[in-house]
Amino acid sequence: ELPPINGDFYHIEEKLSTADKIRQLKVRDFMEKEISPIVNNYWLRDEFPFEIIEKFAALNICGYTYDGYGCAGGSSLMEGVIAAEIARVDASIATFFGVQSGLAMGSIYICGSDEQKQEWLPRMQQMKVIGAFGLTEPEVGSGAAGGLTCTCKKTESGWVLNGQKKWIGNSTFSDITIIWARDLDDGQVKGFIVRKENPGFAVEKIKGKMALRIVQNGLITLTDCVVPESDRLQHANSFKDTAKVLQMTRAGVAWMAVGCARGAYENALDYTRKREQFGKPIASFQLIQNHLVEMLSNLTAMQTLVYRLSEMQDNGDLKDEHASLAKVFCSLRTRDIVSKAREVMGGNGILLEYNVARFLADAEAIYSYEGTKEINSLIVGRSITGFSAFV
Ligand code: FAD
Repeated sequence: ELPPINGDFYHIEEKLSTADKIRQLKVRDFMEKEISPIVNNYWLRDEFPFEIIEKFAALNICGYTYDGYGCAGGSSLMEGVIAAEIARVDASIATFFGVQSGLAMGSIYICGSDEQKQEWLPRMQQMKVIGAFGLTEPEVGSGAAGGLTCTCKKTESGWVLNGQKKWIGNSTFSDITIIWARDLDDGQVKGFIVRKENPGFAVEKIKGKMALRIVQNGLITLTDCVVPESDRLQHANSFKDTAKVLQMTRAGVAWMAVGCARGAYENALDYTRKREQFGKPIASFQLIQNHLVEMLSNLTAMQTLVYRLSEMQDNGDLKDEHASLAKVFCSLRTRDIVSKAREVMGGNGILLEYNVARFLADAEAIYSYEGTKEINSLIVGRSITGFSAFV
């Protein structure tokens, strides 16, 4: 009788309340029964499984930490556990969810007026309205804080937006996209809720990705796109407000990396116990065990780190550098874990049907989005040295 396969080696999940534990198992059940069987096929075809949205919404986990507006007002720890649970089966679905629940709803929750929250959040919580978040541009990625070229200008008919946004997840089908643009008058970054039917808003799907292929990323072009003042995020006055959203979502991406690493580790462990060479399961060889233990050590370090990160978030102690450190550490370690997972699976490690190949590819995108290793390291570096090294 072999021991159960469980990537939660230090029993972090025991910290959840009974109600949260039940919720977690519901998410796991959904991911294993509804998503796992279809995910490789959608990944291969570079398409999004729209038919899952209704059942996904029924889990009632969108905007989990927000108070009011139909949201649960739950803990950041549980929100992190949810993100990891989804990513444990598929990082694309976790990214779709992170954009909806974190980046899009979070922008409205953190920077919107009460009327804007009333208008959008309850329907977004139910996934009846799908959102996207447009910050990155074709020529401006890491340097978004000072470098945005997408512009907005207040006129008598409303705000006029011009420019392009690249990589915007969910934007090929989202009902609304949060667009961040620089005000031509005061030079500050402002946020707008742009509706898909707006005639000045056009999206082209980005094709040929080798990671997170289920996530539908778009190249958005805004051409004299007129947005009423009532759709300008009323509390987004500068990039500092955008950064508040990113602090929260970076913590979420760290958890997502944990989930992706756990999925790869558990798949690899299972495989090595079943696969036989030289007449014995390969898991019985010392060198294979060494790989597995290295993977588990990294995974456990990540889990304990994000656990404390969420505690700080729940206590109101989280700063940008804490979220950045977790994002850097976890996405870097995940890259290592998925690569070892592939290694212990030999040739089958590169076949989609064995699941780990998808994690291997997806870890590359997790590593670069929501701030690259360099940018998040510079945020931490500035905080510990007192010197900014961005330029
Ligand atoms: P660049 O900024 O061009 O960086 C290239 C390299 O230069 C990196 O290694 C970087 O670290 C390094 N570099 C840059 N500046 C410095 C410096 N000062 N010092 C040292 N090194 C530096 N954006 C959105 O707005 N919304 C989304 O929904 C979204 N989804 C995404 C989904 C995917 C799958 C991907 C891949 C990206 C997504 N992005 C999204 C964009 C993402 O956030 C950017 O790709 C990321 O911020 C990096 O920007 P860049 O790709 O332009 O790289």
